Amino acid sequence: MLIVKKFGGSSVANKERIFNVARRCIEDYKAGNDVVVVLSAMGDTTDELLALADTINPRAKKREIDMLLTTGEQVSVSLMAMAMQSLDVPAVSLNAFQVRMHSTSRYGNARFKRVETERILHELDSRKIVIVTGFQGVNKYEDITTLGRGGSDTTAVALAAALHADRCEIYTDVDGVYTADPRVVKNARKIDMITYDEMLELASLGARVLHNRSVEMAKKYNVELVVRSSLNRSEGTVVKEAKGMEKLLVTGVAADKNTARISVIGVEDKPGIAFRIFDTLAKNNINVDIILQSVGREGTKDISFTVASDDLEAAIRNLRENQERLTIQDITWNEDVAKLSVVGAGMMSNPGVAAKMFEALYNSRININMISTSEIRITVLVPEKDIDKAMNAVHDGFALAD
Ligand code: ADP
Ligand code: ASP
Ligand code: MG
Repeated sequence: MLIVKKFGGSSVANKERIFNVARRCIEDYKAGNDVVVVLSAMGDTTDELLALADTINPRAKKREIDMLLTTGEQVSVSLMAMAMQSLDVPAVSLNAFQVRMHSTSRYGNARFKRVETERILHELDSRKIVIVTGFQGVNKYEDITTLGRGGSDTTAVALAAALHADRCEIYTDVDGVYTADPRVVKNARKIDMITYDEMLELASLGARVLHNRSVEMAKKYNVELVVRSSLNRSEGTVVKEAKGMEKLLVTGVAADKNTARISVIGVEDKPGIAFRIFDTLAKNNINVDIILQSVGREGTKDISFTVASDDLEAAIRNLRENQERLTIQDITWNEDVAKLSVVGAGMMSNPGVAAKMFEALYNSRININMISTSEIRITVLVPEKDIDKAMNAVHDGFALAD
């Protein structure tokens, strides 16, 4: 059997944990399996490197940031190989160049285009455990790129798909995927099985337990994922295709604080204005999420929308530069907002879900700024200071606890 095992930063945060991971991998190896290990940087290394860069140059180029951040994963894979070798097990660490994990050119947010398998298969053939850096790729300029925060999960799935692995296991610091972040919602419950679509929504809406692209890719290549703890032996959560799975009204709740609201005030109320505004932002790679347009008055209207907090500055700059052309009278924004979402494949056919969510928020006296829905989710924008309370209220309102 070929097994891909991915371990997150907290699972390799120190010497004891590195040896703990080494032993778990060796168990599978000694049972006769081929083992490919994907690692994140140790503990909070990535955050620390970002903070360090900020002290040198707060407007550092993304290329250099990627060059810096990817050192974190290189530290953990080399130490892991050393740990395994000290336990008399042959192991080799490889980075994205050595494996040849080709990505798009966009620094800080690259996507895999093609992953070569030759080197890994060659090392596996000589009965080595192969340890690969997560989170990184190589672009057409032969520069190193990163896949976005949390991207090591995507490295694992990409390798599992390319190698036709029999298992892809994502080890983290919680026992699996929960009905809400167990660090925020004390009544959160572990989910045994979840569909790709539901997991994709949760991951995209802020449940950082899996990188959303990893779920997208797992669905595309039909890679079944198991999310479980590196610190105990409990069974974890299986992420797979929907077949035969019960459609729950609500599967989980997710929150995302990395959100800001922008309002453009007094734009001309005529065809083409919304197109021009969002086209301008799109051309600058700014993703817009929830959009709300006011009823027109005296030939003008207001449009509010959300962007990721990291994009706020760029979005405002961009709108200001084009203010006249876009007929914008004024621009306002608010960073102190957060998104709260409920996800469930069963809500498609059930009209009461939105009302129930709003009731739970009302009972906790939390004001809703904006609302957006899809077939399997409802998202509201609430004040950031209320987000933990809101998450608990909505979670318990849907009786998701045990
Ligand atoms: P790793 O370093 O292993 O990749 P992450 O910090 O990226 O770990 O993801 C694990 C964290 O995700 C957990 O510690 C938990 O706080 C958070 N999390 C958010 N939503 C959920 C959820 N629905 N289920 C489980 N964990 C969640
Ligand atoms: N080390 C990277 C991060 O902190 C990638 C990962 O952990 O998946 O985002
Ligand atoms: Mg992660």
